[in-house]
Amino acid sequence: MNICAGFRKRYKMKKLTSIIVVAALFASALCACSLGKGSSDPDEKSLSFEAMDTFISAKLYGAEQETADKIESEIKRLDSELSVVNAEGENNYVYRLNRDSSAKVSDDVAELARQSLELCESTNGALDVTVYPFIEEWGFVSKDYKIPSKSRLAQLLPLVDYRNAVQSGSKLSFKKDGMKLDFGAVAKGYAADMVRGILKDKASSAIVNLGGTVLAYGKKPDGSQWRVGVADPDNSASYMGTLSCADKIIATSGSYERCFTGDDGKTYSHIIDPKTGIPVDNGILSVTVISNSGARSDALSTALFVMGKDGAEKYYRENKNFDFIILTADKKAYVTAGVYDDFKLADGYDYEIFKVE
Ligand code: AMP
Ligand code: MG
Repeated sequence: MNICAGFRKRYKMKKLTSIIVVAALFASALCACSLGKGSSDPDEKSLSFEAMDTFISAKLYGAEQETADKIESEIKRLDSELSVVNAEGENNYVYRLNRDSSAKVSDDVAELARQSLELCESTNGALDVTVYPFIEEWGFVSKDYKIPSKSRLAQLLPLVDYRNAVQSGSKLSFKKDGMKLDFGAVAKGYAADMVRGILKDKASSAIVNLGGTVLAYGKKPDGSQWRVGVADPDNSASYMGTLSCADKIIATSGSYERCFTGDDGKTYSHIIDPKTGIPVDNGILSVTVISNSGARSDALSTALFVMGKDGAEKYYRENKNFDFIILTADKKAYVTAGVYDDFKLADGYDYEIFKVE
């Protein structure tokens, strides 16, 4: 079984993607401030570390070092609280929930669960945080990829239903033994919300990249909009377009991020339809969602991917509390009205762009 090109270099690629996108983002900020490489501007604090299975970097303006340190320690704390594999930690709440089918969790995990379950409901289960048994079965956790048999998927299907994950304040429990929960589709967005909370009144502006989920806090120090790159699905180390924005959280789900090619020659991505247990294959290559809430942007980037283009447009018209950019395999870009004027194709890209209203 081959691992698809996108996956083979995933870890390095992810880091590279972050670095290049961030470099692109920061280039204009640096120019605007006439700052050189490794700026000595005392008003700028840089931050980079690994957490949440990705590379996290940030530039903060008008902030103290302790704010930068707090961001790093809080993200690392959240990461360990949400880990599905950390058997050792004292605060490994999600690991314990999956092991015992019930657990008392921290305030952050409770709040993330509350928002996630609401988004599972509002997307009619296109986002389903209990999809983890399928994720494991396809080998996305062990990296021992396989195409499960139809009977195995049918066996697991009753375990996947967010309505059987019950929250009562800080207690989470499952109605069925064997259920497992994973916040992977929402966690980086929630972390971006948490970072925004830390930055409030502590920084004048900031750009934070959590492995492709970007918090554009305020405007650039020169008062102009931030420019965020939208990854090219065919080469995620490059970007196919840029989005100008301020005070937004931008999340992208891409089928290229984690995938493998099975013995049948088909490529299977890590985004799974919770109603079938099968990776989504609907012509979408990536979904970027822009909103005021990181949890919403991240959750919807995954959910709209599952819904498909028509479902995503319908959900947009019914809710309108976010914008999206959907890229499809036939080189079309569907861009909602709220960001249509802010989105620009990069040189050399020839997507046909459609405005969604
Ligand atoms: P994202 O990159 O935000 O789209 O999150 C994708 C990750 O969420 C995958 O790697 C899985 O661990 C998990 N996942 C896949 N499909 C779903 C789904 N339909 N609902 C919730 N989580 C999912
Ligand atoms: Mg997501």
